[in-house]
Amino acid sequence: MNLKELVTGDSGEKRFLLGNEAAVRGLIEAGISIAATYPGTPSSEIGNVLSVLAKDANIYFEFSTNEKVAMEVAATAAVSGLRSFTFMKHVGMNVAADSFMTTAYSGVNGGMVILSADDPSLFSSQNEQDTRNYAKLANVPILEPSNCQEVKDMVKYAFDLSEQFKLPVIVRTTTRVSHMRGVVEFGDVRDNSSNNDNHWKRGHFNKDPSKYVPVPAFAGDMHVRLWDKIRKIEEVSNKSKFNCEWGTGKKYGLIASSSAFNYACDVVKFNNLDIKILKLGFSYPFPQNKVIEFLSDLDEVFVVEEVDPIIERDTLVCIGSKNLNVQVHGKLDGTFPIYHEFNSDIVAEGLNKVLNFKENKSVQFTQSLEKLSEDIPSRAPVLCAGCPHRAMYYGINIAIEELGLKPEDVIFASDIGCYTLGINPPYNAADYLLSMGSSVGDGCGFSVSTDQKVASFIGDSTFFHSGISPLINAVHNKHNFVLTVLDNRITAMTGGQPNPGIPVDGMGDDAPEVSIRKLALACGCDFVRVINPFNLEQVVKTYREAFERKDAAVIISKAPCTLIKGLTRKPPVKFIESNCNNCDKCVKELACPAISKINGKITIDESQCDGCTACIQVCKYGALEDGR
Ligand code: SF4
Ligand code: SF4
Ligand code: SF4
Repeated sequence: MNLKELVTGDSGEKRFLLGNEAAVRGLIEAGISIAATYPGTPSSEIGNVLSVLAKDANIYFEFSTNEKVAMEVAATAAVSGLRSFTFMKHVGMNVAADSFMTTAYSGVNGGMVILSADDPSLFSSQNEQDTRNYAKLANVPILEPSNCQEVKDMVKYAFDLSEQFKLPVIVRTTTRVSHMRGVVEFGDVRDNSSNNDNHWKRGHFNKDPSKYVPVPAFAGDMHVRLWDKIRKIEEVSNKSKFNCEWGTGKKYGLIASSSAFNYACDVVKFNNLDIKILKLGFSYPFPQNKVIEFLSDLDEVFVVEEVDPIIERDTLVCIGSKNLNVQVHGKLDGTFPIYHEFNSDIVAEGLNKVLNFKENKSVQFTQSLEKLSEDIPSRAPVLCAGCPHRAMYYGINIAIEELGLKPEDVIFASDIGCYTLGINPPYNAADYLLSMGSSVGDGCGFSVSTDQKVASFIGDSTFFHSGISPLINAVHNKHNFVLTVLDNRITAMTGGQPNPGIPVDGMGDDAPEVSIRKLALACGCDFVRVINPFNLEQVVKTYREAFERKDAAVIISKAPCTLIKGLTRKPPVKFIESNCNNCDKCVKELACPAISKINGKITIDESQCDGCTACIQVCKYGALEDGR
């Protein structure tokens, strides 16, 4: 499908969309004006699509430096009367939380929707926290789509709800919902045409400190107003079409949300189970009356939800408040796992613990996955061939050796990005990691709490995200560590989005390039070196110098990620067999995946080799030559 059809498609047309593309169509139908994000899987495709379509759709779109900034961009737009959207992965909500919590107090004028994509089973994340906790914490409504049509419909509906109650609304997806494909029927598009020379609309902010400035004198009243709103919204969720029932079961019921609902439906259908189902698509404020009504004639109920037992606890409250005689089976009694992603087999196994039915084995998910995985070679995730990070990890290990340090003398503080893969042998260059930007703060902490040397690694995008403030901390408090900014000219791990260090903005327009070097100097760092990672001699020498300092030294490794679109590939290296003495240094110490040893002979995979020349410098026998 041509992505522009997300803008031009008429009401009633149907398209086969990715969940994240369906979200974009929802935004277009809702007529939003402003969108901001920091890229994070599984929500990244929303930004990639918006960056292409923003102008056609009269939307201002930006990749912000972090989720908190994105939240602030969206909140100020919404309070100025525009419809605004911000989206992130679940852990991004932690970064945005400070501003998010108060946005609930200040409220909005134009609709504001926050999409947070959870990652059950943490396929690409540092934890598997549940965004629904944030809805409860802030007292903000949450919608949980389970298929692509619902993603589109709920995103659109969330704006109406937000405007009606002047409160931001969260849409929570999960990896399976963000990345599933399905048929989506388009609806009407709300006009958002521009009223000025820009391609997006401008709003107006009417000042009223008592509503928008949460000093203690005003914030107390704001909290009262928030509770009034949420009580009214509970009446809406009780009647919402997104909370609906199926089936006729009299003894057993099942309550589910999001992708867990899909698995539960499959199990009930394929095994002809007599269970009635309540699907909760509008799960906070919890539709208590709806749930009580559903439970009233049941003996037992299953609660099927991925990550935390949130619906389950609310269901128990309903049962307790009405003294209902209904037994609950969920995560808390061990019927279903308390962690990780579900699938139909996991749900079937849980139901079977209680119902003891003869399972229809013809559609076993785990079995088919296991069979599939037999045919797929198992490979540990590795840095790509020609990745500039590899050269830096190789170089730092050589420098450490040359300085007479043992591996245990140096702590590697890692961060979120491709370079976390430095954890693997032979580099072993990730010893500690918490979150985006944490490598710099961790450097500060290790510097004062140990006598070890500390090497922190951060990417360019992550540096802009949250590496700058801890670097200021490092300078001011005289911390001693070596910070390497791996400036690969892109936000690589989430699919190649721009960041402030490159001269292009989120809509593809020219933009000022922010210099990491100047930022580091402005933070007060005295030692700031920009080096070419593929010049191994320079890499080793710079690390040696940096490790001998007593302050926060910054090394900026500047070379593009090999996957950046439009880069000219250099010719692959040539292997001169007669010069090779089989020392294996290129395979074992550099470990570029384009180099293998097959039948005792070094082999270069030309389709992978990027001609980066690192291996040429590693080989001391002249067996590898520049292919140019
Ligand atoms: S030049 Fe050598 S190190 Fe670089 S990608 Fe090719 S094989 Fe790998
Ligand atoms: S995507 Fe780019 S930065 Fe990431 S491992 Fe590959 S080459 Fe390196
Ligand atoms: S480093 Fe050079 S000599 Fe050693 S195995 Fe590789 S190609 Fe052969």
